[in-house]
Amino acid sequence: MTAVQGNTEVLSGKPLAALIQQRAQQESTLLDDEGLHPVLAVVVATDDESTHWYVRSIERAAGRAGIGCRIVDLGHDATEQVMANVLTDLSAEPTVHGIILQTPLPAAVRPDRLVGLIAPDKDIDGANPLSLGRLAVGQLAFAPATARAVVELLDHFQIPVAGRNVAVVGRSAVVGKPLSLLLLAKDATVTVCHSKSGALEHYTRPADVVVVAAGRTGLLTGNHVSEKTVVIDVGTNVLADGSLVGDVDEASVTGVAAGLSPVPGGVGSVTTALLLLHTVEAARQQSHSGLLAASTSRI
Ligand code: NAP
Repeated sequence: MTAVQGNTEVLSGKPLAALIQQRAQQESTLLDDEGLHPVLAVVVATDDESTHWYVRSIERAAGRAGIGCRIVDLGHDATEQVMANVLTDLSAEPTVHGIILQTPLPAAVRPDRLVGLIAPDKDIDGANPLSLGRLAVGQLAFAPATARAVVELLDHFQIPVAGRNVAVVGRSAVVGKPLSLLLLAKDATVTVCHSKSGALEHYTRPADVVVVAAGRTGLLTGNHVSEKTVVIDVGTNVLADGSLVGDVDEASVTGVAAGLSPVPGGVGSVTTALLLLHTVEAARQQSHSGLLAASTSRI
């Protein structure tokens, strides 16, 4: 049963994450039976401890789903050329099916060049601009897992978006923009807000759904929402005491809004599970295109 605080439904991501993880595990077992072991490669180039903790959590989750996880740790001083070579090699490596380039990256490298080297069919976190372009024109592509996690969470709680107003706060290429494309594809009327939008409540109060992905603690308060608003909090902000909070002022929004996803335990848990599901989907697609190539070559 779903928890409710005041009038606000708590939109926990954990049950959905467990379902997605289970689906990824079932699919990886099927692939294994066919002689294909799905493998995810995570390229890391930082000494940031929380990033390493996050990458280890992906590795553990992959292990539980029967998916191989190859962590390629290049160190915080990796050069752009070394990183480019690694991404090019992994993109061509047939035993690797999904690739993540983990942020933060060394200051001296050009992220745009590097993400462009991830083969689109292995780009399971939608980082290559080609993936975003494909999403924009409705072609098959992996969306960034976080953007898809928001849509899956809304679906899971049967919160309709078709014909409804959705305000997305944040316009980054990894969350806000791809999310707005996914929501448009589901027939939502989408307003994308950013740091120059001015008074946010002007856009968020009339909205049926508000998704906040700005990386600003306490950005969305009870004054920004109405009793019909469902709020999805994508923000992850680490406080001085090490605790994790979102972009929503939980205390003032709870009791006012119709629903709120918690941080932690909301979008983030679904995101990790989707990275695994994307990896098995990528492995499946690559095995099909391999079969296609083989059958074509026999003609
Ligand atoms: P980003 O690249 O820094 O983008 C932040 C966006 O928020 C920008 O578009 C910015 O506007 C907008 N913004 C900043 N301050 C604002 C304000 N006061 N009012 C309105 N808009 C404002 O961040 P990101 O990579 O998209 O990530 C956003 C948040 O999501 C971060 O907390 C990040 O840690 C979190 N995140 C979570 C997950 C997960 O799995 N849960 C995954 C990815 C990211 P401008 O464009 O005008 O600068």
